[in-house]
Amino acid sequence: MALVDYGGSSSSASEDEESSENNQTPTLSSLKRPALPTAAALLGPKKPKPEEFVEDVVDDPALHGGRIRSFKHERGNWATYVYVPAAACADQLEEFQAEAIAHLEPHLELQANDSLHLSLSRTVVLQYHQIDEFSRSLQTALSSSVGFTATLQGLRIYTNEERTRTFIAAPLDPAFVEKMTAILQPIDQVMLDYRLQQFYDPASFHVSLLWCLGDQEALLKDKLQELQELLEDQDTLTLAVNEVHLKCGNKDFTYRLK
Ligand code: AMP
Repeated sequence: MALVDYGGSSSSASEDEESSENNQTPTLSSLKRPALPTAAALLGPKKPKPEEFVEDVVDDPALHGGRIRSFKHERGNWATYVYVPAAACADQLEEFQAEAIAHLEPHLELQANDSLHLSLSRTVVLQYHQIDEFSRSLQTALSSSVGFTATLQGLRIYTNEERTRTFIAAPLDPAFVEKMTAILQPIDQVMLDYRLQQFYDPASFHVSLLWCLGDQEALLKDKLQELQELLEDQDTLTLAVNEVHLKCGNKDFTYRLK
């Protein structure tokens, strides 16, 4: 039997041992095995997992309150954003939402934002296979970030970049902008690493409370004082910044701050 005979399917351990015992050095060409079939050749092309289809919906604006998506909806595209939940003052904000909707009803059809939060990123698009690695990068980036307790102060009107939606939001008290910026920085760095768009510069941290279709900035600015008075009935609006979340399609990851 040949000491190194790769004509068969594979070499056994005993053959290898035999080879070393006899201390003969086979030539490189004799070591070359025929290429093994690839996993793809054996198993066929990779099939997407069922969860990869979760975001695969037909883009019908009627299904999301008439809102128009800012990015093309394609199979495997996962709408992703980073945020701080506004859980501590959610009850107060929900009360204000109901009062503001009733107050503006004759003028404007406002919708209440659900899952109230303060965004720390734009809504970006990830591919399914990037999600876990992106989440790990965020976790590492935020590992030395320090939490704090902040407050929300007053009201402000925002529009999205396309000016297709207008928002009434409670901005972060200016006293906490520096601390929030310290948390934003590592997040922005991860965005940069993944060649994704960074947050607004300058950032204007806020919790969106209500929205309506179209550019209604002028009308809502006129009503701001009246709305402000409704909000003033509420006690201090506390925002506990002790965890950061990553929302990726229907997945939600949590990173505890120090
Ligand atoms: P959000 O509640 O985070 O979705 O924010 C509501 C809207 O505020 C988004 O559509 C943003 O485009 C808009 N926005 C406009 N300017 C800024 C800014 N400087 N910082 C943060 N958000 C902004």
